[in-house]
Amino acid sequence: MKRMSEETAPLAGGATQNWVTLAAMIIVGALALVSLYMGFQAYGNEEIEIAFMYMIIGTSGFIAIGYAFFRPKPTSMDPLKPKKFDVITTLECPQCNLKRVRAFQRGDYIYKNDEPCTRCEGKMIITSIHTRKEEKK
Ligand SMILES: [Zn+2]
Repeated sequence: MKRMSEETAPLAGGATQNWVTLAAMIIVGALALVSLYMGFQAYGNEEIEIAFMYMIIGTSGFIAIGYAFFRPKPTSMDPLKPKKFDVITTLECPQCNLKRVRAFQRGDYIYKNDEPCTRCEGKMIITSIHTRKEEKK
């Protein structure tokens, strides 16, 4: 458990919140260690009830750390948003061949009759939906 404080290398792109979490974990860890130490001392002095109390505090501290530590980390790997992608919908008007692109909207699908053409009376049809990697940071 002592290794934990040494493995605090900054996470790639770590936000300030991670440092707050990390600091809180270190504090809780230190308190838990102290509690366990006090518990063992009390146990040595045959103060079983006090020892038991400290043990509970210490153990729950470690459980809290373990819980925080093994939860999915938002920065290291989040499969839901590894990079920012834009989904682009391309619309074409079959009558005047006007082409338009816009951001993907919920419910878009290819060959869907979408919005009215801005140039003629026709209806624009979605011809492709694709992702585009966002260049800007
Ligand atoms: Zn048109």
